[in-house]
Amino acid sequence: MASVSTVVVDGKSLAQDIRSEIAAEVASLVEAGHRPPCLAVVLVGDDPASASYIMGKRRASGRAGMDSIERKLPASARQEDVLAVVRELNAEDAVDGILVQLPLPDAVDPEAVATAIDPAKDVDGLHPINSGRLLANRPGLYPCTPLGILEVLDRHGVKLEGKRAVVIGRSSIVGKPVSLLLLHRSATVTICHSRTRDLPAVCREADVLVAAVGRARMVQPDWVKPGAAVIDVGVNVVDGKLVGDVDFEGLQGVASLLTPPRGGIGPMTITMLLRNTVTAYRARKGR
Ligand code: NAP
Repeated sequence: MASVSTVVVDGKSLAQDIRSEIAAEVASLVEAGHRPPCLAVVLVGDDPASASYIMGKRRASGRAGMDSIERKLPASARQEDVLAVVRELNAEDAVDGILVQLPLPDAVDPEAVATAIDPAKDVDGLHPINSGRLLANRPGLYPCTPLGILEVLDRHGVKLEGKRAVVIGRSSIVGKPVSLLLLHRSATVTICHSRTRDLPAVCREADVLVAAVGRARMVQPDWVKPGAAVIDVGVNVVDGKLVGDVDFEGLQGVASLLTPPRGGIGPMTITMLLRNTVTAYRARKGR
């Protein structure tokens, strides 16, 4: 069988293009005499990975010309302490977006925190009001990774209408929202999970395959229809190396479009956070 020519997505460069567009948008708001959008990040505890994610998000917002502020709480913080910070940020007019970095300590329920955030400032798109808007295909703030996935597909000219899309994973942060976004673009969507029977056969039907599982190299070349677009969301570390949920090397020559484990969907996620912050700002301020 003839080998397919595989386009490997350069998520870094794509993210950079979109960040430049966002920076230009912010600059024109500031030129018009308005304050820039402001993102508030909340860090609970001292997990180094979370601290580094927060730093990356603040740095990216600064580069786009946006303001950011940080609220830090100790690992011993109780749920009420976190909710108090969220309420304070909800009430602060100069804050447009609020992000509480996950994971949270055991004593803090992430759902209670997500629900406490003003839906108009919910730049992670996890508030039930925004989930409802996504379900109803109404404007709202949607989760960043799914938005980044759609952006990658669109900017590579992948047509979705009438196509078979298969999503592996049904989390609230990736699997379910990306399935809805694909559905709203008139793809025929199948959502798979740990109880799905004969997963390889289901995957082989996909024109667009999204893997959001967290199992290293689970998706093998013979699971993929030649010419399918494959989006790998998975982040796994094997022998100190970052690997995705798909066999990246094995899918060369099988997938028509493929995201790499590093520099693929990751940079797009932060970029969509910036976009959501601008969207929240515009909606709140009517600009
Ligand atoms: P999650 O909440 O753990 O969900 C994983 C999903 O995979 C679940 O729906 C689970 O099914 C399903 N699953 C587990 N084992 C399976 C199997 N053997 N066959 C089929 N389905 C299986 O994970 P998540 O938060 O969605 O994240 C998924 C991956 O994406 C992780 O590696 C995460 O680190 C990564 N991620 C990356 C980014 C980024 O920006 N690059 C952003 C978010 C997440 P059940 O529901 O039946 O348990």
